[in-house]
This record gives sequence, C-alpha cells and structure tokens, in this order.
Amino acid sequence: MSRFLSDAYASLVPYEPGEQPKKQTFIKLNTNESPFPPSQKAIEEGEKELRRLFLYPDPECTALREKIAENLGCFIRKEEILAGNGSDEILFLAFNAFKDRGFVFPDITYGFYPVYARVAGASYREIPLLPDFSVDFKRLREAKENVVLANPNAPTGIFAPLTEVEALLSERSDRLVIIDEAYVDFGGESAVSLIGKYDNLLVTRTFSKSRSLAGARLGFAVGNEELIRDLNLLKYSVNPYNVNRVTAAMGWGALADESYTKKNCAAIVKNREKLASEIAEMGYFSLPSKANFLFVRHEKASGERLYRALRNEGILVRYFDKERLRPFVRITIGDEDATAELIAALRRIREEL
Ligand SMILES: *Cc1c(COP(=O)(O)O)cnc(C)c1O
Repeated sequence: MSRFLSDAYASLVPYEPGEQPKKQTFIKLNTNESPFPPSQKAIEEGEKELRRLFLYPDPECTALREKIAENLGCFIRKEEILAGNGSDEILFLAFNAFKDRGFVFPDITYGFYPVYARVAGASYREIPLLPDFSVDFKRLREAKENVVLANPNAPTGIFAPLTEVEALLSERSDRLVIIDEAYVDFGGESAVSLIGKYDNLLVTRTFSKSRSLAGARLGFAVGNEELIRDLNLLKYSVNPYNVNRVTAAMGWGALADESYTKKNCAAIVKNREKLASEIAEMGYFSLPSKANFLFVRHEKASGERLYRALRNEGILVRYFDKERLRPFVRITIGDEDATAELIAALRRIREEL
C-alpha cells in the first residue's frame, strides 16, 4: 500500500476471482463459464467490428439494446435496458446509485455484493440463509433496506419461486429490489415479467454464462425507465464507452442465434441432472441446483480436501473458506466428456475417503 491510498480503501478486501490456469491441461470447472464456444453468428458479427475499432463505440448500445428488448419480450423497451461491461459493472453502478437506504442480502451469496457496498460507502446487512441453504424471505421482506438477491443463488444454485420475489416487491414499494439473474437460463424463471408491474425492480443479466461470452464482458440491467436513467447518470460520469464495439456486436450476434443458446443450456441441464443423480448414488450430497453448477459435499471430507483430490485428477473446482461453506466444493457443469470424467474421478476419490 502506498502512502497515497485513501483511508476509505485501506481496509478493503477485494473480490477474489477463481483461478485461470496458464496451462490448459485442466478440466476447468471452477468459474462457471460455459464449456461451449461463442455462437458462430456472434463471432462473425464481432469480426466485422475489428476494422472499425478506430472509432469509439455507440455509447448507448442502441442496436444491442433493441435486440435485448426483442429477445426478452414482456413488452420491454430499449429505454428500460442498460448494457454494461459485464453484469459486475451494472451491479457496481447500482450499489453506488442506490446506496442511501443501505442494502440487505443473504450471508451466503455472490461475494461481490459486500465488496461493492463497501466501495460505495453504503451500509449493508447480511441475512443468514436458513438451515437448508434456502433464502430467509421472511426476514428479507421485513428489511427496510434495498434488497439484492441472486436468483438462482450462488454458490448454492437454489432457485426461489417468483411468488417470493413478488412478495418482496409488493411488501415495501419504497425500497429497491435487485434480482441478479446470472444463472436464470439454466432452469429458473425470470423476474423480467414483473417489471411492467413494479417500478422498484431491477433485474441484472449476463452473457458470461449461458451465452459463452465471459471473456467479452457483457451484461445488462432491465428495469423502470427512471432506474435506468439513474444508472446512466453514473455511467456517463465514469465511462460512457463501457461496452466496446466487438463485444456489443458479439452480444447482438449471440441473441440472433437463440437456438444455439437453447441447445447449450439444455445440454448443461442434462449433464447437471446426470451428475447429481450419479454422485448421490456414490454417497455425495448436493443442493438442488437450477444453475450451471452443483454445490457438492461428502460427509468424510472437507471442501478443500475434495478440491485437492479433484485437482490431482486434473479437474479444477472451487471451494470457499467461509463458515457453513467449508464442507462443499462448487463444481461448474461441463460438456458430456467433462461430466463423464468428473463422475469417474469422484468415484475414485470416494474409494479413498
Ligand atoms: C458470474 C456472476 C456475475 C457476473 O457476471 P459478469 O457478467 O461476468 O460480470 C454476477 N452475479 C453472479 C451471481 C454471478 O455468478
């Protein structure tokens, strides 16, 4: 730390991204990326933009936002959408724009929420998950602060029905509810259908998981036009050109190739269900997931030990050094081959526990 760093950030603990190994020999199931390459249509659209990179991109991302609106349906208009440099950037803008009431979120959820709250100088409270790792909606409903909820939640994968989300929205219309739908394409149901009815709802989405564009950095927010204007106020005060030309074009191309996304998501869901049932027979336990990962434990080993054992087998997963999470590893769902290798490895590991 230099002697110039602001006191405001002196005790900041940053988010820790999952490992990106230099050698590609691992089966990489640690950061919830898609095992499939981007759509061919996305690649073609992105390539066309390479020659135009001497020009700044459209700061409004008009074509992309129109395509997103069309893709979402639900009478969503482009004025109700903001594109961002990953949904992480959207969340950063939201934690800053709407910080006055403070925030509440579950104690076990996406690790970035407390970091963004601290950077924004916002107060926040963490509401413990219930013993079965589901969200304590009763306590969230009672909270006066803005609510931030990943649905499906991470790293549990558990999806809460939209009726619970709607109850959060209607209980207190004076607070904002942010639903982070990074994993909604793997079997959950989107809250975007509620946007016409509630002006205190902001939904965030990403192209990083179901659309195979983690490396391009693209996400968006959907919500009431005034909320989007507030986020734009901050965006235009920080980085108007937050989405580059290639990424915006790739996002447009991905949306123009919905059948590819649908096919990939169906494959992930199939592999997830196969993995869950096979490892249950071996004595592993996993939480019911509607995401592209499974939160897995075995009563005879810690998460860290399972992580090391899988690493020895050439498979990279993630464990968390946090109360209640220590027994678990989070395993991203891969393609059919990766799933078969993972099942075989977990079978060998089980023999040695
Ligand atoms: C991956 C993830 C994000 C971030 O996605 P990017 O668009 O890649 O920034 C946001 N929220 C949750 C819960 C995630 O798992």
